[in-house]
Amino acid sequence: MSAVVVHGPEDYRLEEVDVPAPAAGELLIEVEAVGVCASDLKCYHGAAKFWGDENRAAWAQKGIIPGHEFVGTVVSGDEEALRHHKVEVGDRIACEQIVPCEECRYCRRGEYWMCGPHDMFGFRNYHGAMAQYTLVPKKARAHKVSHDLKPEHAAYAEPLSCALHAVERADIKFGDVVVVAGCGPIGLGLIAGARQKNPMTLVALDLDDDKLELGRRCGADVTFNPLKDDVVAKVAELTEGYGADVYLEGTGATPAVGQGLNLLRKLGTYVEYSVFGSDVTVDWSIISDDKELNVLGAHLGPHCWPAAIKLLEQGKIPVDEICTHQLGLSEFQQALDLVADTSGASVKVSILPNA
Ligand SMILES: [Zn+2]
Ligand SMILES: [Zn+2]
Repeated sequence: MSAVVVHGPEDYRLEEVDVPAPAAGELLIEVEAVGVCASDLKCYHGAAKFWGDENRAAWAQKGIIPGHEFVGTVVSGDEEALRHHKVEVGDRIACEQIVPCEECRYCRRGEYWMCGPHDMFGFRNYHGAMAQYTLVPKKARAHKVSHDLKPEHAAYAEPLSCALHAVERADIKFGDVVVVAGCGPIGLGLIAGARQKNPMTLVALDLDDDKLELGRRCGADVTFNPLKDDVVAKVAELTEGYGADVYLEGTGATPAVGQGLNLLRKLGTYVEYSVFGSDVTVDWSIISDDKELNVLGAHLGPHCWPAAIKLLEQGKIPVDEICTHQLGLSEFQQALDLVADTSGASVKVSILPNA
């Protein structure tokens, strides 16, 4: 089969490899779609978070097939595997990106998304889905998805579940003014998820007016472009001068952090989903002395996959407009380049390995 293989930063190659044979308890799936994530791009470019630096060991591995946002059809698996994952041959499944060890302190407490070893499809110890087939180990967390969805739409369950988890962290109230920074694949999921919580006013921010329009289609009531609008002043106008109740950060751009601290009201909630390419400098006293903020992190989409899949199956999200580009496996480099071009027209870029 054809597969993309990681040989190191900026050295990903399309190769012919054997179709993997499922061991006891494992499923083999034919990959229908795999989303290309900003994290795939950061890994490709050699970010220290993946390949290590003087302060940390490498987490990503060479020889791995990348791709963690995937959906595929079960083609084989023994009875144990089918029973364990509650699937039949022919079912379509999406798998959570993390493959929990089931042994560490976090896994034993049900906090599997913070699993210590942090094995993940496409990065570490498990091949991902930029290939025609991939294996689903017993420890993976698989979820059935309707065949009625387009493959690239079904694969959006991964970023959407991540966004829903960040929304859950925010504990949105009906009367809240909620601001979402960023209208990329994660930001749009944050908007769509926050819309489900139905706050009083949902505000979307992005530097691109077309993406703001998409933010409106996902449920934003109001949009501002920080290149044109004084966002802190605009949010103050919306809130009798107090500031927003909740800020959900999904841009990965360093100025978005200070912006959030400044536009929140006292006792407001800041939720950080992004991964940053460099250190962020802010007036940290805003969190304590000025506003007594709740500052929360969010990682992956624990316990949010069924809800994400349901939203997609119900057609509650304009996913046809979010999934802008579908490419073949041999075009993986172009797919990475499309994700890298942040000024471009792409939102979610997907690879369809068997199309
Ligand atoms: Zn991802
Ligand atoms: Zn664990």
